[in-house]
Amino acid sequence: MSEMNPFKIAQQQLDEAARKLGLDPATHELLRWPMREYRFTLPVKMDNGQTRIFHGYRVQYNAARGPTKGGLRWHPDETIDTVRALAAWMTWKCAVVNIPLGGGKGGVTCNPKEMSEGEKERLSRAYIRAVARELGVHRDVPAPDVYTTPQIMAWMMDEFEAIYGESHPGVITGKPIALGGSEGRGDATARGGVYVVREAAKKIKLDVSKASYAIQGFGNAGQFAATLHREILGGGKLIAVSDSRGGVMSKSGIDPSAIVKHKLETGKVEGFPGTTPVSNSELLELDVDVLYPSALEGAITGANAGNIKAKIVCELANGPTTPEADAILHKNGILVLPDFMANAGGVTVSYFEQVQNTYNYYWSMADIDQQLDRRMTDAFEAVYTTRERAKVHMRLAAYMVAVTRVAEACKLRGWV
Ligand code: GLU
Repeated sequence: MSEMNPFKIAQQQLDEAARKLGLDPATHELLRWPMREYRFTLPVKMDNGQTRIFHGYRVQYNAARGPTKGGLRWHPDETIDTVRALAAWMTWKCAVVNIPLGGGKGGVTCNPKEMSEGEKERLSRAYIRAVARELGVHRDVPAPDVYTTPQIMAWMMDEFEAIYGESHPGVITGKPIALGGSEGRGDATARGGVYVVREAAKKIKLDVSKASYAIQGFGNAGQFAATLHREILGGGKLIAVSDSRGGVMSKSGIDPSAIVKHKLETGKVEGFPGTTPVSNSELLELDVDVLYPSALEGAITGANAGNIKAKIVCELANGPTTPEADAILHKNGILVLPDFMANAGGVTVSYFEQVQNTYNYYWSMADIDQQLDRRMTDAFEAVYTTRERAKVHMRLAAYMVAVTRVAEACKLRGWV
């Protein structure tokens, strides 16, 4: 049921983990809902002189383990329920990589592809004026997500600092390096994902240097996964790539750097020389070793899960697989690296960015990389061990690890 509400899916996933863990009813109910949520009506002057009204959201799901953390998504289909689901997943994400942060998420219903730079800047500033009193390094810290960029983070930080008349670089992460961003934040989501693919391949004895891979979704995460997969794993053949307009494939392999360049120059992957067209749904069913769903929710559903042939599915997107599909993939012996573990590299380096902002002292790329690798590898090990011990699929195992940590924090605070 691909049309299922993402927040209902997030609750259903939690319910399964709560049952398996024997979680007490009060903690379970507490963790099923956002602890705080805000909606904003944002008037923005457009280039044509007219004022347009946008709808924005910020959900602070759970702050038991620390200030809430999570990106801002600008998408035409954004709703309070997509934001709630994404905020829940951020809570589990920060817990599974064991960083001292809670989970949150924000969004604006808009289509940035149809907006000028000036319009995007005015929307960024309007959003911050609405949410500023709820943000801060000890409250809630946004970051980039789908269709939001380091430039947008820069405008937002500037607006926040203008309101408070002080320097507050740690109020937002994913900033440009010149404004206190961290080395390695740009490719961190993909880098972390490739680290867990490396660990997963060891478990199933897959020689990753010879493996084939395909990428669905060619935004920030997908583009970096294309090149980092080969760089980190010492080889591999990229068979297919798609974006929201369509995809391309080549059995003899696609040059990852060249297709990234083509995407940046033309805005699409279509028409890349030496390839044939493939649809997004066909791409998911290709006979490849590693599949990276890197677009949006609901890509792998009950309708197509039975046709997936990959040995490892590394979810760089948030929520790409429905619960119905999860069960099918598990039954077919496919190792799924669930979203909030596989794509936690982004928020992990966001956390490093915040730490550096607080100290006003900056680390090298080598430091970041080493720390990121350790956190991702530890998270994978914790989840994989739980999977073996409890005999459950990877997503449920990841939930069990994360929910146990968040529940403990809630209990220690005396909330339940
Ligand atoms: N938007 C990213 C995610 O979904 C990163 C969040 C962050 O860095 O706070 O994990």
